[in-house]
Amino acid sequence: MTEEQAEARPVTRLVGDAILVGSDFIDHGAIDIAADGRIVTVGPEADLGPTDASVERVGGLLMPGLVNAHAHTPMTLVRSAGDGLPLQQWLTDGVWPREGKMSSDDAEWGMRLGSAEMLLAGVTTTCEMYLHEDAVVSAVRAAGNRLVVTPGIIAALAPNGKLDGRIDEIVAFHAAHHAPADRVSVGFGPHSLYDLSPEQLTEVGDRARELDALVHIHLEETKTERDDVIGKWTGRSATELMADIGLLDGRVLGAHGVWLSDSDQRLLGEAGAAIAHCPVSNLKLGSGIAPVASMLANGITVGIGTDGVASNDDLDLWEELKLAPLLARGRDLDAQAMSAATALELGTVGAARAIGLDDVGLLEPGYHADIIRIDTDQPAFTPGIDADRLTSLVFAGSARFVTDVWVAGQPVVADRACLTVDVDEAMAEARTRGHRLL
Ligand SMILES: [Zn+2]
Repeated sequence: MTEEQAEARPVTRLVGDAILVGSDFIDHGAIDIAADGRIVTVGPEADLGPTDASVERVGGLLMPGLVNAHAHTPMTLVRSAGDGLPLQQWLTDGVWPREGKMSSDDAEWGMRLGSAEMLLAGVTTTCEMYLHEDAVVSAVRAAGNRLVVTPGIIAALAPNGKLDGRIDEIVAFHAAHHAPADRVSVGFGPHSLYDLSPEQLTEVGDRARELDALVHIHLEETKTERDDVIGKWTGRSATELMADIGLLDGRVLGAHGVWLSDSDQRLLGEAGAAIAHCPVSNLKLGSGIAPVASMLANGITVGIGTDGVASNDDLDLWEELKLAPLLARGRDLDAQAMSAATALELGTVGAARAIGLDDVGLLEPGYHADIIRIDTDQPAFTPGIDADRLTSLVFAGSARFVTDVWVAGQPVVADRACLTVDVDEAMAEARTRGHRLL
């Protein structure tokens, strides 16, 4: 047997009452998983034939893990800070005074707690924009979730507004940690177009393109931000400015995009850019409702995200999964503005593509075996008429129905308990550290 055949040989077979493949349910289905953590075969168990893999009859509905396209998870230590303030004041008065005191150890405990919170909710991948990137990677390595980490670049935090080698630091961090096949990808996290100068952003874009790395940036979150960028940089919108300086020639993920104009959306769509849609955070901070249906029509890749937990205030992506179609329909006065199937894509494969992962978010051969089990033997999923199952999953689904989670075929949650993080310990640490930051 060649090495390739050995890798593709299934070592585990998960058998469920149903399996969600795309937006179709396969009843009495099974998934064969190889030693490298990728899916080999999916289908009705009867069609898969005998196997010498270890067979686990787990029942329930097996579906892809959810993907969080925009988060600042170590903020669990400042959860719910600054409620009721508009975005800029929320940052400067509510969040940054506490967050600024955070040590690398604090960030690691915050990330560990948040990783457990996500895994327990069935969120298997997260795209993080944060400082303390070493701590973020270390926590995720222990927790076992999948990560795209985009270390933050913030001019406002530098005394002279200069970046002082920060970009070189991230290039070195990329060389040390970028390993998508081993669950960690590295990009760049320039904070925003109002924080960094066009010259600084040009440099970030150039360096990111050399590495084919993702640039993850806050984009048109509030109306004030939109007007500020236009006033500050020669009357160009944030998107036009990104096009001018070549940033859109590389891989770009804009967070929010609430105030994008039609022409900005066309530019982003033509450039193959992505937007992380964070409806809960946008509503909590009074930022507005993003034009998601129009973004999709313009060819933008869209994923949903929680944003940080000071503006959410949890990492339960099922809330975004439900709110995204509800808000799209309410905003456009159109019950067809977003289907349940599209919403599900935004929370799985769409979000994965938005953050630069093309082998995550579907239960199909070749994809990573990031799988969650949903207990569908629940009033919320009854009667379970075939034609209505997907709708029930999106609109009645919830983190509380997630019972088991696998990342790359490895169990990380079993029977609603996190196997990789001591949650009581992480909560105790977060309590002590969160109070100290205050
Ligand atoms: Zn954010």
